[in-house]
Amino acid sequence: MSVKVRFAPSPTGKLHVGNVRTALMNVLFARNQGGQVLLRIDDTDLKRSMKVFEDAIKADLTWLGLGWDETFNQSTRFDRYDAAKAKLIEKDLLYPCYETGEELERKRRIQRTRGRPPVYDRAALLLTDEDKVALEAEGRRPYWRFKLSGGRIEWNDLVRGPSHIETGSVSDPVLIRADGGYLYTLPSVVDDLDADITHIIRGEDHVTNSAVQIEIFEALGGRGAAPDMGHTALLVGADGDKLSKRLGGLSIEELRDHDGLEAMAVVSLLAKIGTSDAVDVCDNLQALADGFDLSRLSRTPARFDIEELKRLNARLVHTMSYVGIQPRLAAMDADCGETFWLTVRPNLTVVKDVLNWWALIVGPVTPIITREDLAFIAKAAGTLPGGELDCETWKAWTGALSEMTGRRGRTLFRPLRLALTGQEHGPEMAALLPLMGADKIRRRLGGETV
Ligand code: GLU
Repeated sequence: MSVKVRFAPSPTGKLHVGNVRTALMNVLFARNQGGQVLLRIDDTDLKRSMKVFEDAIKADLTWLGLGWDETFNQSTRFDRYDAAKAKLIEKDLLYPCYETGEELERKRRIQRTRGRPPVYDRAALLLTDEDKVALEAEGRRPYWRFKLSGGRIEWNDLVRGPSHIETGSVSDPVLIRADGGYLYTLPSVVDDLDADITHIIRGEDHVTNSAVQIEIFEALGGRGAAPDMGHTALLVGADGDKLSKRLGGLSIEELRDHDGLEAMAVVSLLAKIGTSDAVDVCDNLQALADGFDLSRLSRTPARFDIEELKRLNARLVHTMSYVGIQPRLAAMDADCGETFWLTVRPNLTVVKDVLNWWALIVGPVTPIITREDLAFIAKAAGTLPGGELDCETWKAWTGALSEMTGRRGRTLFRPLRLALTGQEHGPEMAALLPLMGADKIRRRLGGETV
């Protein structure tokens, strides 16, 4: 059977680094195995799911290069979930319950005070038909629980190795709410069966779900119907904190549009953190997929450090060719040719920083000329070689100035950089001079903001 995985985001918010890592693991696994990727939009919660989020998720995945072979929305498949519900009722594996939230909470409190785990007591299984009629006459509507076997569920986790859960320690899960709405658990199993999913790869916050779902897979699809499963350790921030709110704020949209980071830097980092492999930047997904192996993932949380991401981004930008970047420079109105790109490239962390350096060329730049350097700068203006400036000009000019003034090193170069760029640091002056042109250079040396 050929490999097929799925990534199943709920369109109730934007993609963040945590769920992108799950998407990436699925895509890398599929590509490594020559398999297929299904993008399933988990929108059974009709109130919280929004089309704008679905569109944003698709745009983000596309930008990251994490494409899919097939996609559908769960909201188009309620008839399949209704059929599964009927099948489970027929098999006596789905039963109606009538307790209110408060009543359940009271039960849990009592269990806790008696030192017992707060597992649902299955009181609803004892209800007679008359009881149910009477409860419904009170206006109560049933919600539905799946009857777990109470036995031990075992699976060989693709990341965590041999795993098991005793279902006796877990409450029978609610599959359908009193308003008839499907919670995530059942639709996910129905879809995984219908779509012939072979491997489920998701975060370890789903381990208990998985155990429960294995029983539902078998109830609906027969013995051995559950796909293979792998649960990845969660991401934590650089300081070891849960990625929760603070870094949950690290949406892909923000990394792209606000921070200006590259898709392949994000992907390179997310592919390697939490593995024993060195983190390095890689400029194509297939290379990451070729070496991908879920068993290299560590069981301890992976650390996501935005500073590390910026360093990787810089390394990636430093290798970008002019031909590759030209359309983006043009779109930013900063296409000033290959020489400029190659000159400023080593100074960039993100591509959009190019605008800062481009501003040095087009100006206006406010020259910084200290009192002590006034005479030196005046001499410099007088010695600037005439004619076309080229990349040799800087050497010839500063060489002549050094002979004239005896200045060398920092005392020679720094005042010129400050006067011409208004900044302490920046791209190589030798390459900047011809781009600035003699006229602008003379005027800046004269103290003019231009
Ligand atoms: N929509 C679920 C989630 O985002 C999918 C979990 C799964 O992969 O089954 O948590």
